[in-house]
Amino acid sequence: MKKTVALVEDEPDIVELLEIHLNKGGFQVKSFNNGKNFLDYLKKNTPDVVILDLMLPDIDGLEICKQVRALNSTAEVAIIMLTAKSEEVDKILGLELGADDYVTKPFSPKELVARVKAVLRRHAPRQQTRTIQIAGGLVIDLEKYTVTLKNERIELTPTEFKILELLASKKGWVFSREKILDYLWGDEKAVIDRTVDVHIRHLREKLGATAGCIKNLRGVGYKLEE
Ligand code: CA
Repeated sequence: MKKTVALVEDEPDIVELLEIHLNKGGFQVKSFNNGKNFLDYLKKNTPDVVILDLMLPDIDGLEICKQVRALNSTAEVAIIMLTAKSEEVDKILGLELGADDYVTKPFSPKELVARVKAVLRRHAPRQQTRTIQIAGGLVIDLEKYTVTLKNERIELTPTEFKILELLASKKGWVFSREKILDYLWGDEKAVIDRTVDVHIRHLREKLGATAGCIKNLRGVGYKLEE
């Protein structure tokens, strides 16, 4: 899913330039040349980042900033203010009102795209659960080190878990026994190839109905495929 950047700016040249660079940076851009249209848009949409010009034809950028923060749906949205050089005081006020960053005109579009990415990183959801989902209802939780099949916990040994995690990290990729052993024991490996086969056999037994997702490529290794 592409992240959405709402661009509120009344200077067409800047809008055009930023749209090009933001699109190139992998963002979807919604542009507004006045404050009213943007605030209307916010009633039904929540962008990921707002780039907000301070000097707009209708509503003051600072007022918009305040309103964005006041809405429940957008209180946490990242805001980057665009200011002209002479607007030093307003610039500071903008930060007090809860803007995350500001850029002074004229600016490099590349730098602005980098700022957008930076605020998004800072705004990343704090409790993002890292899980891998596999067809058939298998879920690997990389933080809790648990595996569930249709919400039922499957008890795996640490080695079995690591093998499953490795295969699932790149679905469809073939991992040789050598690679798997490397991942499990690194330089300390003093075990033979067959060890992997034994672990995989146990793992498959435990995965029940979804066991078929782990495939053996004779003479090459193993892969996980949905
Ligand atoms: Ca302006």
